[in-house]
Amino acid sequence: MIKFEDVTKKYGSTTALDQISFEIDDEFVVVAGKSGAGKTTLLEMILAKETPTSGRVVFDGEVVNELQGNEVSDLRQRIGAIFQDYKLLSDRTAFENIGYAMRVVGASEEDIEKRVPQVLDIVSMKEFADSYPRELSEGEQQRVAIARALATKPEVVLADEPTGNLDPYYTQDIIQLLKKIYEMGATVILATHDRQTVNSLEQRVISLKDGRLVNDQDPGKFVL
Ligand code: ADP
Repeated sequence: MIKFEDVTKKYGSTTALDQISFEIDDEFVVVAGKSGAGKTTLLEMILAKETPTSGRVVFDGEVVNELQGNEVSDLRQRIGAIFQDYKLLSDRTAFENIGYAMRVVGASEEDIEKRVPQVLDIVSMKEFADSYPRELSEGEQQRVAIARALATKPEVVLADEPTGNLDPYYTQDIIQLLKKIYEMGATVILATHDRQTVNSLEQRVISLKDGRLVNDQDPGKFVL
């Protein structure tokens, strides 16, 4: 489904990714590494937000770094993205936040009415549909952000340090939710520097160090 072929990314004299190659099918994969290892750069390549300096990123047979205009939006609709900072709009309810994101990618009002309760149900937040972000805990806000990422029924979910702002109780909660999303049929790629999270998952681990892929094991551990 996703293939990196000898991908290098340089920012001036910094090499963020150094000749990275791997292939991901329908899996739950952890991309592990310390801060600055290249995790975010790797995820941004899949979303066509960054282009490789050399090498190719392939998504379902298409070369991501050669996509143009509409093809990039089509790709992004197939991918749900979750970040450390949930980026919820503070003046809109949970329901409206998800509806807004769907409208931006062209969903009809009918689709929104139907899909938002479904995704809120997946993340166990149905009863919070009319709550504003300030009325929700950190963990609940991240759940709404995850529901928003699921709204377009993505085949792949990218989570970049999704538990970075959360205390351990909510961290486990969010990790369990990502597992559930994987079990429901999506490929999940979780980028994290958190040793405990990596080790508790017992899934494939791709380890990055200074932009290099230093280990790829299934199941793997935090080896850095
Ligand atoms: P991680 O997500 O593992 O913390 P990043 O992918 O954010 O790592 O960063 C990898 C390296 O690339 C770091 O040295 C970082 O400073 C550098 N980097 C990332 N984005 C940029 C950018 N837009 N401009 C310059 N350097 C960048």
